[in-house]
Amino acid sequence: MGFKSFPDKTVLHFQEGITGVVGPNGCGKSNIVDAIRWVMGEMSAKHLRGKSMEDVIFSGTTQRNPMGMASVTMVFSTEDGRVPSAYAHFSEVAINRRLYRSGESEYYINQTQCRLRDIHDLFLGTGVGVRAYSIIEQGRIGQVISAKPEERRLILEEAAGISKFKNRKEAALRKIEATRANLLRLSDIISELKRQINSLDRQARKAERYQILYKELKEIELHLNSLDYLLHRRNDENLSQEVSHLQDQETQISVQVESSENKLAEIRLALQEKEAEYMTRQHQLYEKNN
Ligand code: ATP
Repeated sequence: MGFKSFPDKTVLHFQEGITGVVGPNGCGKSNIVDAIRWVMGEMSAKHLRGKSMEDVIFSGTTQRNPMGMASVTMVFSTEDGRVPSAYAHFSEVAINRRLYRSGESEYYINQTQCRLRDIHDLFLGTGVGVRAYSIIEQGRIGQVISAKPEERRLILEEAAGISKFKNRKEAALRKIEATRANLLRLSDIISELKRQINSLDRQARKAERYQILYKELKEIELHLNSLDYLLHRRNDENLSQEVSHLQDQETQISVQVESSENKLAEIRLALQEKEAEYMTRQHQLYEKNN
């Protein structure tokens, strides 16, 4: 509905065997193939014979207005069992693609919205890919025949169903490459860590040596302090001995001074007596002289 020359909902049945689409030039036969390609995830407007993706939306005619959205649904029967295992329990698989003029696009598998990748994955290896041999529009047969061997190989591989495994191989190789890059980064990190470990080891040894030396220093300081203390104590003892010795001497001297002072007082008394006697004698002498 709304796809190219199909503004209205149009249902086409493709039964087993050959289905022919017949009609006059320009009636829209190729648009059916475009619709099939498009719903299967074709991303190139050129492959859909348009300039931009918006060209797939019905652009109106003299009698009809343009539409705002194109929607194509393709329904596969799963009866023959040729269906990816994830969808085996469905009786049919319906894929739907919608495009709005705003540029917004939506994909659905069995009415559940999904990514374009899920649509691609669904067709991988089934032989029904967008680029597969199964859709060959007018003029392509000649292209396939005259294609380069590599291009033909791609078509045959998709038909044989090995493109799925090739894709997986590529994904696995990409993963291996990413893992290799990660390993490289890890080995860089490891060597950087080793360098850091070495430097930390050196620092740890330095710290250990510092601890030992610091302990030794503290012991030496303690020893010195105790020696200092002992020395001071001995000095103190000597000094107090000296002090008491001097005190003894002082007591002795003061005793001597006292006795000398006593003696001096006695001598002074004796002198006074002698002077008095002298005076008396002089007086006597004077009287006798008279
Ligand atoms: P031929 O036999 O010449 O190859 P055909 O039957 O394959 O022709 P198509 O090429 O499928 O025809 O259809 C062409 C027609 O589709 C043209 O008339 C064109 O105007 C119409 N058409 C294409 N795109 C749109 C669109 N976006 N909106 C409306 N009509 C469109």
